[in-house]
Amino acid sequence: MGSDFEQWVQIALSDQIFPQADALAILSDPNIDLMRLTTAAGDVRMTYFGRQVMLHRINDIQNGLCPEDCGYCAQSKISDAPIKKYPLKSEEDIIQEAHEAKAKGVYRYCMVSSGRGPTATRTQELAHIIRRIKTEVGIQTCLSAGLMDTEKAQILKEAGLDRLNHNLNTSESHTADIVTTHTFQDRVNTLTAARSAGLDLCSGMIVGMGETDQDIVEVAYKLQEYQVPSIPINFLIPIAGNPIYDYNQLTPQRCLRILCLFRFVNPKAEIRLGGGREGHLRGLQTLALYPANSLFVEGYLATRGHSVDQVYQLIQDAGFEIAGDDQSSRTDRSSAEQYQLDDNPNILNPKTTTGVSV
Ligand code: SF4
Repeated sequence: MGSDFEQWVQIALSDQIFPQADALAILSDPNIDLMRLTTAAGDVRMTYFGRQVMLHRINDIQNGLCPEDCGYCAQSKISDAPIKKYPLKSEEDIIQEAHEAKAKGVYRYCMVSSGRGPTATRTQELAHIIRRIKTEVGIQTCLSAGLMDTEKAQILKEAGLDRLNHNLNTSESHTADIVTTHTFQDRVNTLTAARSAGLDLCSGMIVGMGETDQDIVEVAYKLQEYQVPSIPINFLIPIAGNPIYDYNQLTPQRCLRILCLFRFVNPKAEIRLGGGREGHLRGLQTLALYPANSLFVEGYLATRGHSVDQVYQLIQDAGFEIAGDDQSSRTDRSSAEQYQLDDNPNILNPKTTTGVSV
């Protein structure tokens, strides 16, 4: 299988459909060397995106209070997770937070609102906020607000929304195991509506919910069929109180294989390290930047994540660049201050030591 790496890169760079049997093998065949696989996926990434990494910042503009029963979600009516629930944030707060995201070098501001989908009135409210963000802040926008029809998607598009997120989350056959209040087809219909309205699509999956290798492959090819340009890969964050808690099926190496698989099947897509990357990829986050070219900063819907500074460090240490960032304005953080692990002045300042050898 090792001799296939060059061929896989050629397939990905020549707009051919990646062979499904090979996609499945990437997940299931331990003889496929992970380092060589990662390097090959990195070759594809470098061709289409160079060394650039796009930073996305989620703003959870409405949290909890959702009537749907998605088993992985702390905002669901069936979750006992002790999250802070709140209705739609004020317009001024959402716009102020967009300014702050832009000031931190964030490329795209992702507004996420809980619920099955927006009402007509809520759609108009969101459109008004988006219009203001586009004119007053000038940042790329994405909205995730549940199921949507073409009419509502058009209203948001006319307001200036760039991209609509609606994740497939898992395969069609596995969907009924994680949610019963809507179907896989409902999700696909939302993507179709967004595309009809002229919005960019963002859609990905959550892995670690008891899915099989085949389920993951099916999602990768469904997104390829829809030519989705932005694909977040979320790694299930085990939140106590959620019905789908922890299948214990993710390792850092499996996560990396999943990302490589998505890069080969969707070579021109923005593949994003989504929720849970910190805990599931752990020490392989740097290598994950070879297949992936995008990530979230400062956390997810119900949990914290790495800060902007930590992400800058990760990206710079790995030799990548932040898309749209003026790096000359950033301070190199590889200074001694990072190593101040103890407040003993004898250790931190040799001039004050009293014969103590450290
Ligand atoms: S994923 Fe969305 S629709 Fe499902 S429970 Fe959470 S907020 Fe509601």
